[in-house]
Amino acid sequence: MKLSKSLITRIIEVIIAIVSMFVLMIIYSNILNNSENDEEQKIKNLFKDINVENYAQIDKWTIYGNHLNICGNINKGNINDINIEELKIVAMNITKEEKEYTLEYKEKEETIVFFLSSNINEGINLEDIYEGNYYIFLKIIGTSNEKENSYYFNLKNTTEYTDSKYYTLTENNLNRKIEIDFSQIKYNKDTNVDYMNIISSNIELPEDIYDIVIDPGHGGSDPGAMYKNNTEAKMTLEYSIDLKRKLEYLGYKVKLTREDDEYTAPYGKNGRAIIPYDTKAKLFLSIHLNSTVKENPEGGVEIYCANNMNLNLAKNFANNIVNIAKTKYSPNNVSKALDGVYVKTYTKEDVEEAIEYAHDLNYEPYETLNTNTPYYFMIRETGGIMTKAYVDGRNKNIGDNPYHNSNIAAEAYLLELGFINSEKDIENLQKNKEAYISAIIKTIVDNYTK
Ligand SMILES: [Zn+2]
Repeated sequence: MKLSKSLITRIIEVIIAIVSMFVLMIIYSNILNNSENDEEQKIKNLFKDINVENYAQIDKWTIYGNHLNICGNINKGNINDINIEELKIVAMNITKEEKEYTLEYKEKEETIVFFLSSNINEGINLEDIYEGNYYIFLKIIGTSNEKENSYYFNLKNTTEYTDSKYYTLTENNLNRKIEIDFSQIKYNKDTNVDYMNIISSNIELPEDIYDIVIDPGHGGSDPGAMYKNNTEAKMTLEYSIDLKRKLEYLGYKVKLTREDDEYTAPYGKNGRAIIPYDTKAKLFLSIHLNSTVKENPEGGVEIYCANNMNLNLAKNFANNIVNIAKTKYSPNNVSKALDGVYVKTYTKEDVEEAIEYAHDLNYEPYETLNTNTPYYFMIRETGGIMTKAYVDGRNKNIGDNPYHNSNIAAEAYLLELGFINSEKDIENLQKNKEAYISAIIKTIVDNYTK
């Protein structure tokens, strides 16, 4: 049988096509490999340049609001004979430009324990991390053999939290995604090196990510405080809707936990305490009105927040509301930290009661519940491990907060704007709504504007 010329040509063409496909695949995978190797080589060179030989370990890292906080320790054996003068965390790019953050530290037997801050809302402000790839080291400034020097150590993550994404607050319609990442690199034949890096990139904000969540207190079957024709639930909704509109006008992306006069469950899908996590919000405000047993006080501003934080922002909320809305700090002295600022935690009696209650209902008492645990669930359960959230489903009556163990959460404040049953307060709250709202907005803008 004689093959036609065209058939032979076709067969040759197919063979050529297959061969060239293989050749292209090999070339492509080589390019990929090389660029990967290039990247690895660059990192190794950086580590060699700054003489990273040993490591410190991270025992805890959290993001509360816009601050990354790191706690860790370094074995004294790893630092040889260095006389420590200062301890820092540094973020370094591949061209060795550094940004430094001073650490607090204390010696503890065989280790030196360090931390950025004992306040959950302090540490590295992630809003200040501009586009780029940063390697994070522990830096010890100290003397060895009478020579002052800087010594760098990699950071090895020993926590269960392996990575995290943070989205910066919207500014001029722009956002960055900040990824916290822990990797390992083959340093030489038989040593692997652990390191931490932060990758910051300009992005378009995903649809389900928000800057701020506002929670109009109560709603529906739960009217909250009531006086004459006024209910807390209705007023907090009006306030929250206005607040959202004005913040949006300034460019922030804002979500409400409820948009109608309806009951909103704390947990579960679209739960009040769950939305701030789901939306990766940086700030969470729960708006409330109080009622008092005292005779007609002039004002009742009470700003609640967690106990283990810097109170500046809470103080600014209280001061601005009092000054701009021409009202007064609450006369309430229970759990008061500063004028208008309150940090309510469980009392000894509350803790005992909670333990008894757990026994009665046949579940193990919560391990993190003690006199340092924030009392209000809107503060505690929205803050993950930073605020000792504990609602983990063991008590069948109150549901489950799937984020109770989260190491990233919004910075939360509960704002009691005034007393609904004080004639003076309710009149001011109704006639002067704009002033209360501008006071809240001024506090937010002043805090986040660079
Ligand atoms: Zn309330």
